[in-house]
Amino acid sequence: MLVDKKKYEEIIQELKPQNILLVAVSKTKSIDAIKELFALGQRDFGENYVQELVDKVAGLPTDIRWHYIGHLQTNKVKQVAPVVQLIHGVDSLKLLKEIHKQGGKSGRVIDCLVQVHISGEETKFGVDKEELSLILNEFNSGNLLHVRILGLMGMASFTTDMDQVRKEFRYLKELFDKTAAEILQPTTFTILSMGMSGDYKVALEEGSNMVRIGSLIFGERDG
Ligand SMILES: *Cc1c(COP(=O)(O)O)cnc(C)c1O
Repeated sequence: MLVDKKKYEEIIQELKPQNILLVAVSKTKSIDAIKELFALGQRDFGENYVQELVDKVAGLPTDIRWHYIGHLQTNKVKQVAPVVQLIHGVDSLKLLKEIHKQGGKSGRVIDCLVQVHISGEETKFGVDKEELSLILNEFNSGNLLHVRILGLMGMASFTTDMDQVRKEFRYLKELFDKTAAEILQPTTFTILSMGMSGDYKVALEEGSNMVRIGSLIFGERDG
């Protein structure tokens, strides 16, 4: 068995009544593992390596909604844009402009979340409050018509200190509410993507409506 079906059903039962979307994080996992989860009804999958995403898209059903959750280099946007449902990791204005440009080339509007740096860890990506304002101003000026900003995404510190994690999620929720009040497309700014295997319960308590869960469902990753 490539998927922990019991755990998966348990998570779905938990999320469904609250209308929370589960993105099953399938990075490093096999096509067969994804098929197994697909057979249980899962349609949203998350990947964070461009080549792996492209290879998997080619080998799997077309009704899968692919989420790009990793750090995206501007020179790779071209490969991701045609296949992706939602880009979670927009962490600079430069990247958002490139996504807009690629969207324009294919006559599409590409849905994005801005990733905010909420943990104290230097290794994690994401914008700070000031850069978020900058992105919002540019977006509100109407120059980026081939992207939509649907919400925010964040990763909390990798720690067992759940008070710390809660504080970080709470900060992101505050920024989310503030942005929702300022953005010129408030009706489509609705997604708060926060929470992973180790901290999704705390994230839900702090207002998340999209969780990205990998190892709880697929087992630990090798690499
Ligand atoms: C890997 C990853 C996840 C899932 O992590 P798990 O701990 O396996 O649930 C979620 N979000 C991002 C951005 C990731 O890179």
